[in-house]
Amino acid sequence: MAPVAQLNVALNAGLRKGILAAADSSRVQRLVRRHGMRLGAGRFVAGETLDECIAVLRRLNDQGLHANTTLLGEGVLEPTQTEAVVAAYREIIERITSEELRANVALKLTHLGLEIDEELAFANLKRLLELGSFVRIDMEQSQFVEATLRIYRRLREDGFDNVGTVLQAYLYRTPGDLESLLPLAPNLRLVKGAYLEPEPVAYPRKPDVDTVYEKLLERMLEAGGHTAVATHDDRLIQHTIRFADAHGIARDRFEFQMLYGVRPQLQLDLVRRGYKVLVATPYGPEWYPYLMRRLGERPANVLFFLKNTLRG
Ligand SMILES: Cc1cc2nc3c(=O)[nH]c(=O)nc-3n(C[C@H](O)[C@H](O)[C@H](O)COP(=O)(O)OP(=O)(O)OC[C@H]3O[C@@H](n4cnc5c(N)ncnc54)[C@H](O)[C@@H]3O)c2cc1C
Repeated sequence: MAPVAQLNVALNAGLRKGILAAADSSRVQRLVRRHGMRLGAGRFVAGETLDECIAVLRRLNDQGLHANTTLLGEGVLEPTQTEAVVAAYREIIERITSEELRANVALKLTHLGLEIDEELAFANLKRLLELGSFVRIDMEQSQFVEATLRIYRRLREDGFDNVGTVLQAYLYRTPGDLESLLPLAPNLRLVKGAYLEPEPVAYPRKPDVDTVYEKLLERMLEAGGHTAVATHDDRLIQHTIRFADAHGIARDRFEFQMLYGVRPQLQLDLVRRGYKVLVATPYGPEWYPYLMRRLGERPANVLFFLKNTLRG
């Protein structure tokens, strides 16, 4: 890599760490929570209410895009609170169905009570899967991976095929996890990984994560099941297309997934070329941690916020 490119990679890695660490500061939280929506969080979040979100999902569908939505929230520590989360997801799923949207739901197990009790999160998710719509379990920090995969496997053993989950390329453990899941012909979303993880569990250097991503992607596409290629990285998207063409992998065996507000033109270009593209479109008042992860992925997004601040 050229020295300037190396410097750029190092600077971005430092900024990413800085932003993700600052996200925990209560002063930063107070400031961003108070002004964030006005200053541009709406670029990444489809509003604070279900009605606002439904309007966005419909607009995406009208453009030929599929969507999933998430009621933002994580780390729930009160069992009664998880009841409210399940009720909210029930309402979302029923609304998506009655409005005939090409959309489904992705959720976080810590929102359903994973930190309180694994059985509670399992039971809560099972109740939602009984509605029959597809639900994807997002992958959170590395301490939750084991329990998340355990819950995924149990649900599949119980006969639920309308569930998928996520693997993160930055974790050293992921190639092993993938091999152990493949006999289930799983529906997996592959991501690079969005959290601040310690070096003993995750590749600290982005080029290493990109290399592993490519290998995992090839293995998933070859092995069967359904692969959601969740990245905005041009090189990996082009690689997916070339690899699928070269190996006769049908277009209904994979899809591209991107985040709401990130590279919208690329999303539409892929639809025009005949690929399925799903836009992850979260909503809800608890948008703060989600927004901070989006800023960490691309520190230039912080400039976008600062510019809006200066404009007043
Ligand atoms: C649909 C979807 C679901 C996800 N689910 C999870 C999950 O369950 N668990 C998890 O840990 N992570 C999840 N992620 C986040 C993921 O781990 C990455 O942090 C994120 O996708 C950025 O990596 P990238 O693959 O786009 O590649 P990068 O190399 O980071 O980015 C490639 C290019 O995309 C553009 N880009 C990337 N991110 C942004 C951004 N935030 N704003 C503006 N431009 C950007 C830039 O042009 C950048 O150069 C998800 C991502 C997507 C798309």
